[in-house]
Amino acid sequence: MPRPILATIHLDAFRHNLTIIRQKVGYSKIWSVVKANAYGHGLDRIWQSLMQTDGFALLDMNEAIYLRKQGWQGPILLLEGFFKAADLQIINKYNLTTTVHSHWQLKAIEEAAFDKPVNIYLKLNSGMNRLGFTPDEYPQIVSMASGIKNISSVTLMTHFANSDNEIGVSEQFTVVRQLKMDSLQHCLANSGAVLWHPETHADWVRPGIILYGASPSGKWRDIADTGLRPTMSLRSEIIAVHELAKGAKIGYGSHYTTQRVTRVGTVACGYADGYPRHASTGSPVIVDGIRTCVLGAVSMDMMTVDLTPCPEATIGSSVELWGKHLPVDEVAEFAGTIGYELLCALARRVPVVVD
Ligand SMILES: *Cc1c(COP(=O)(O)O)cnc(C)c1O
Repeated sequence: MPRPILATIHLDAFRHNLTIIRQKVGYSKIWSVVKANAYGHGLDRIWQSLMQTDGFALLDMNEAIYLRKQGWQGPILLLEGFFKAADLQIINKYNLTTTVHSHWQLKAIEEAAFDKPVNIYLKLNSGMNRLGFTPDEYPQIVSMASGIKNISSVTLMTHFANSDNEIGVSEQFTVVRQLKMDSLQHCLANSGAVLWHPETHADWVRPGIILYGASPSGKWRDIADTGLRPTMSLRSEIIAVHELAKGAKIGYGSHYTTQRVTRVGTVACGYADGYPRHASTGSPVIVDGIRTCVLGAVSMDMMTVDLTPCPEATIGSSVELWGKHLPVDEVAEFAGTIGYELLCALARRVPVVVD
């Protein structure tokens, strides 16, 4: 028998979440962001459940080629653009839309031997200072790009740094509006902006994390009323049970000391499965449908949980680490991170099924 740990991918939740996003953005078109192997879910497993999307956005050329080979004929956007001029042959062959964020990329497109012109997303650095052209140089770059015969259309793209927090998008959005590029299509909104800044929806939106039913802010309560559903459940089982005396110590470093006689369970899941090691005592888990918590440090292959709230639990009892009954963001918050990181970090050794 394999270890009892298992990740389940909920395809109906993808369809449902895309529908919710569609309702939120109205006539704006949707790039479903499936970078990082669909946020750890496996692009091969999930892309068909997002067939109602208008396009797929990702980073890796191989993922783009994969989608084409699977028969996806709609738009595909490379969010970071291309990394070497030679990549342009792939962009041309597979009809990919590419981000352009640097001068050398524009020059490379101009000099490429294309049999058809390419659509580009011209990245504006509106304040995140990661990628893109400054607002000052932007209009000139637009007219340059429009004059290149290898380019068929230019879309203004920018990325918000604070769409999910109290700082908000107004400063960056003002930079965009002041450019008055009304002749260009605009693509601005990530998940946070899709949910909380409808004024930025424009022609295309780029939701990622909300497709996966987790929160852009890393806090589940911020999306609790949206109807978004988790797309991944990570489950395992209790493999040992112990009745510990008061004063017993649990796990590496003996960080936890029992305050009374305590029944504990050992769960077959550790940080080598992708469970965060920083989530120690107090991190929520569901045992046999009842919420309880981790006690002591999480080790590589196992963790210990409190069975006090679930006296019926025994060897073989089911444990949900995150998923349908326990938002991944709640676990992430406990570990000082965001759901994105946990989903993307699901370890290769964890078997995955779809339902
Ligand atoms: C990852 C990414 C997104 C999606 O971000 P979410 O916060 O997951 O919605 C959108 N746009 C760009 C450029 C990205 O890199």
